[in-house]
This record gives sequence, C-alpha cells and structure tokens, in this order.
Amino acid sequence: MAQTQKAVGRNGKRTNGRSASSRPSVKTYNNYIGGEWVPSAGGEIFENINPADTRDVVGRFALSTEDDINRAVDAAATAAAHWRRTPAPRRAEILFRVGEILIRNKSQYAAEMTREMGKVLKETGGDVQEAIDCTYFAAGEGRRLHGFTTPAEMPDKFAMCVRQPVGLCGLITPWNFPMAIPSWKLLPALICGNTVVIKPAEDTPLSTVNLVEACAEAGVPAGVVNLVTGYGEAVGAPLVKHKDVRLISFTGSTETGRTVAAGCAERNAIPALEMGGKNVQIVMDDADIDLAIEGAVWGAFGTTGQRCTATSRIVVHKKVYRQFTKKLIERAEGLRIGNGADPKTDVGPVINADAVHKIMGYIEIGEREDGAKLALGGKRLTRGEHARGFFIEPTVFTDVAPEMRIAQEEIFGPVTAVIPADSLDQAVEIANGVRYGLSAAIYTRDVNRAFHAMNEMYTGIFYINSATIGAEVHLPFGGTKATGNGHREAGTQVLDIFTEWKSVYIDYSGRLQRAQIDQAEPQ
Ligand code: NAD
Repeated sequence: MAQTQKAVGRNGKRTNGRSASSRPSVKTYNNYIGGEWVPSAGGEIFENINPADTRDVVGRFALSTEDDINRAVDAAATAAAHWRRTPAPRRAEILFRVGEILIRNKSQYAAEMTREMGKVLKETGGDVQEAIDCTYFAAGEGRRLHGFTTPAEMPDKFAMCVRQPVGLCGLITPWNFPMAIPSWKLLPALICGNTVVIKPAEDTPLSTVNLVEACAEAGVPAGVVNLVTGYGEAVGAPLVKHKDVRLISFTGSTETGRTVAAGCAERNAIPALEMGGKNVQIVMDDADIDLAIEGAVWGAFGTTGQRCTATSRIVVHKKVYRQFTKKLIERAEGLRIGNGADPKTDVGPVINADAVHKIMGYIEIGEREDGAKLALGGKRLTRGEHARGFFIEPTVFTDVAPEMRIAQEEIFGPVTAVIPADSLDQAVEIANGVRYGLSAAIYTRDVNRAFHAMNEMYTGIFYINSATIGAEVHLPFGGTKATGNGHREAGTQVLDIFTEWKSVYIDYSGRLQRAQIDQAEPQ
C-alpha cells in the first residue's frame, strides 16, 4: 500500500514520497469506517512528526477528503437505528470494557502521545487517565440518563420528559489533549445512543486511533464509531456541511469555531463549541505567595502553556507585586526544557513550526509594547538536545498593561503576562476585561474576597487557591463569551449536548381534556 501512496508532511507540505517509503519501520494507520481499517479514498498519506525531534516520524496517516467523510457518514447512518435501540445499560457494558482496555494500555498510549504531541510523560499519563475517568463516568450514565416526571394540569393525565439521541454526530478535536478531548465527546455521544464520525487534529491522530481501536476491541458495533484523519479544510469542513450530520461537537480555536458555527447555521445543524481562552490568576496581598507561585508556574508552563485553561495572565496586588515576580522568575528559571519522554523534563516542545512562529511573534510584540518588560526567557532554543525540535523558553513579561496584545490575545505557548493591580475590584475588572471566559483563579486567605471574586468573574470555571488548570470529568467544562456557545462538556451537563428532550403526555381519562393554553379560563 505504501508504494501507491504519496507522502504529505506536516502542515500539508509535500515530502518526497520515495524517502518516506524508504523508512519501512514507520507504521501506516488507516481510517476506521464501518468497522474496517481502510486507506483514504485517494490513497494519500501524511506524516505525524515528533515535535521534540523532527527526524522522528511517529506514523503515516490517511490523508482524507470529502469522499472519505461521505463514506464514514454513510456507515454511521447505517448503524444508527440498531445502536439507538440497544438499551443504554448494554451500551454501557461495552464502554466499561473500553475503560479496561485503556487501563491495560495506559503506559503505551502515554508514551505514544508524548512522541506525537510533546508534553511530558506525567501529563500524557494524565491525558489517558482522563479518558479512563470519562469512560467510567459516561458508562455509569447508562443506568441513569435520567429524565423526569412532573404533574399535569388535568386529572388522569401523566407528564414526563425523556432524553432521545441527537442522531449522527461529527466530532472535531484539537491536538493539545489528544485522547482526553476526543473521549469527552465520543463516550457521552455513544452512551446517549448516537453514532459518530470523529476527525482528530492533524498533529495528533495516533492517540485518537488508539481510542478508536479500544472501542473496536471492546465490541462497539461496526459503523457506530468512524474515524477519518486529515486536515481541517479537507476533512473537517465537509463533515460540518454534510446534510446527514445533525450535530458538530468542536473543540479548537475561536476563529475555526466561528467557521464551524456558520457552516452549521447554513443547514440548521447544532454546533457545540469549546474554544480559546485567556485565563487569569489573581494574587491578593494576603495570599500564600509560595502556593500562588506553584499555581502560576504549573498553570502557565504545564503542557508548555498549550492548554485552553493555561494561566496566560497573572494579576498581582501591588503590595506583593515585587515579591511575587521575583519568586516567579526564580522558580520558572529552574524549569528544565527538553524531550517530554525524558523524566527529568519539566517543559516539552510546542506542537509545530507554525506554533513557534506564532509564539515568537507574540514575544516580539510584547518586547515592543511600551512599558512591558521581558523578565524571563523569550528565546527559541536551537542547540544541542534542542536542535531538532520546537523548543521555546518559559517566558515571563512583567509590568504588563491590561490592554496590551499579550494581555488580550491567546498565545497558546509558554508565555505569561504579569499585571499589577491596586485592589480586588480592579483585579477583577482586569481579569474580566478580555473577550474569552474559560478559567480564572484567585489566591487569597480571605473567604469574603474569594467569594466576591467567584461571584464577579464571568468565566465557566473558577478556582480558589488552586491553578487555572486541572478540571475533573464529573464537573461541567466550558466557557463564556468567545470561549463557548453555551454548552458544557463533561459533568452530566454533557448529556444535554448529545440528547434532545422529548415531552410526553399520557391522558388516561378516556375523554378529550384541553390544556389551559386552549381554555379562556382554567377549569
Ligand atoms: P484549530 O481550530 O486550529 O483546530 C481544531 C480542529 O479543527 C482540528 O481538528 C482542525 O483540523 C479542525 N479544523 C480546522 N479548520 C477547520 C474547518 N474549516 N472546518 C472544520 N474543522 C476545521 O485549533 P488547534 O490549534 O487544534 O487547538 C488549539 C485551540 O483549541 C486553542 O485556541 C485552544 O484554546 C483551543 N482549545 C479549547 C479547549 C476548550 O475546551 N475550550 C480545549 C482545548 C483546546
């Protein structure tokens, strides 16, 4: 098969097909459609490259097009009736088996994720663990999926509401949580009785292949889960516009999310969007400063700052500003940057060359901003162990003003902006003064201040004395403003994405009883 396929490299740059096929040890992964692993309709492939060492080709993946999406949607449509009618507790039994397979393969999946995505092994283990937790959480819903009963207006009449599956769901995911985010969508969609076509990010298809393989091994019937790999325009866009796809669950940038929403609006499909963030940690003058430093370093530089919930702003009370920034710089200076597969590494590479370009561009913007100081980092590392990868130093800007671009725009890299504030009210105003609304944190020992901030922050997630990152799967996850469009993933709230309500009235009076909407006066 490899001989007939043309290799296409990262970001769509064509590579020499012969040199790609001259590395026979590199495995080729296919699409999963109708229960079969099949090459793309056009026979083309793209390479998945290790961001810590670009000589390392993790695998070759099907470079798909609209034809592959059409096949996958047909397979999902064919499987829909049987899966919808399979009782939810039976569906759950299969999902529990998925969880067991993920547990069995956890260390292999984590190692493969570090290789394709770059984050350190401890974090990729956490990413797989999140998928395991999500599996058990979703499977548990197989014996709940609660609806409700409620009194009717009339005697001898019964009223209840039941959930019904939305139908055929398209799932489009980003690269920064390559198994956790697909699991947040896939497993709730399945327990609710939907069939799916999933399109993972082009930078991290292997972790989704692993998740889908686990589903296949666990006995998810053919056609219920379909996987199509490839690029956004070529594969994501046809999925969004396909007439048979009822719902698109998308996680990614706000810009792409807007395109997805517009595509859904064209044909009255449902968009459920999780998008960008510009998250904030507030540090008050009464805070435990060492704890606040731990939270800031973890929130800003964990996953190399490539989390939607990353701490990209730190608003610090002026009374502790000097002490906080000094300690922050000392602590961040000690972080070890390298290949995430090395257990000594704290901060891995960023995802690809485009990310380097974007992040370095923001560092230049920050350096040009009048008043902001580049207090730590700011350079791309290109020598020795860093020569072949996409490594950027943890970077701290201090004396940042709230309106500066580095304090307003999502950078999605190891860069944080420290902003001074005079009071809690001013800190909250600064914190709320961005277009995103995903995660916020406050460090204070004063319960009144903590609750005041909790009440005033317009975000989907809020932490007290804890970093802006670290969601748990049984609580709803999502954001306000440009971060989301009103849906929440995880928690039981995710069921409202993947089901629709049906109100049911049963009249056992044996006569026509008119509801109050049809009467001039209540009887
Ligand atoms: P992205 O928007 O570039 O891509 C996301 C997905 O959309 C990918 O699979 C991509 O191939 C696909 N896509 C691209 N163009 C498309 C199109 N025209 N039609 C349909 N699909 C298309 O985002 P990314 O770089 O992969 O991820 C980083 C972004 O994701 C950041 O903004 C981050 O904040 C956000 N994110 C948000 C959350 C959250 O829950 N709010 C979680 C993780 C990441």
